Amino acid sequence: MNSRLLEHQFDDLRILGYSVAGEETVIAAPELNVCFDIGKAPADLLPVDHVLLSHGHMDHAAGVAYYLSQRNFVGNAPGTILAPTALIKPLKSLLRVWGELEGHVTPAELVGMEDGDEFQIRKGLVARAFANNHGVPSLGFVVVDVRRKLKPEYLGKSGPQLVELKKQGIDIQYTVEVPLVAYSGDTADGDWLQNEDVRKAKLLIMECTFFDADHMRRARHGHHLHVRDVARMIPAMDNEHILLSHVTRRTGIRDAKNVLKQLLSADDYQRVTLLMDRRKALNTRRPQADATKPVTDGPVRK
Ligand SMILES: [Zn+2]
Ligand SMILES: [Zn+2]
Repeated sequence: MNSRLLEHQFDDLRILGYSVAGEETVIAAPELNVCFDIGKAPADLLPVDHVLLSHGHMDHAAGVAYYLSQRNFVGNAPGTILAPTALIKPLKSLLRVWGELEGHVTPAELVGMEDGDEFQIRKGLVARAFANNHGVPSLGFVVVDVRRKLKPEYLGKSGPQLVELKKQGIDIQYTVEVPLVAYSGDTADGDWLQNEDVRKAKLLIMECTFFDADHMRRARHGHHLHVRDVARMIPAMDNEHILLSHVTRRTGIRDAKNVLKQLLSADDYQRVTLLMDRRKALNTRRPQADATKPVTDGPVRK
């Protein structure tokens, strides 16, 4: 397996991904046939048929053309990219320019999405987009299991009786929706936190970019979440599992866990997993991920 991908199991949901802020984010649920963002298109995720692209920043979208081209190269069906509508035109341009470079255009299914739009992944499984808050055209996605069930009042009826009711035009079924996994994309807080799908998804994959006490302003400036935002948000969320992604390279996993332990209740801490490896820090400076340190406004860098 590609060495940079990390694997996590949440009950029967397997997640395979890699996520470091500004570097690469690609997080797949292979059994649901979806990949949230594509990062640099790691080889192990090329067979996944749907990429749910949250926004156009390079760390999330760099591999789009390569993903499509590699699928074509090995004879897979064209990949499907769900993306904010505003990105469809530039994505087409990107593929056209690659076509000029390569001498042929790679086939692709590009689907523009807006807040609330749905796309059927397969029978009984849909991807639904929700507006997040990242200062550029951007969406989060939730993958929802949709089932039709027999209304309780018809449970005792025989097969022929049910057929008869249907013939009379009576709707004998109702729809049950179970949001399986929600992906925040890159985002600051906002109305998306009130979205029922997001709050109730079995797994919420949420960005948590900054941990340093003096990086609050940087988080605000880039429309990202700071661990203190996340710690404030988590108690109100109903998710069984919360996977935190998009942590900066300067934060080590031990420091990140310590901060979360300090900021969260024991029960909430149990729900949280970090999508982090034991990464090498970018610089030699001591990490300042300390929940007890007062928040200060450090220099703003873009
Ligand atoms: Zn990012
Ligand atoms: Zn971004």
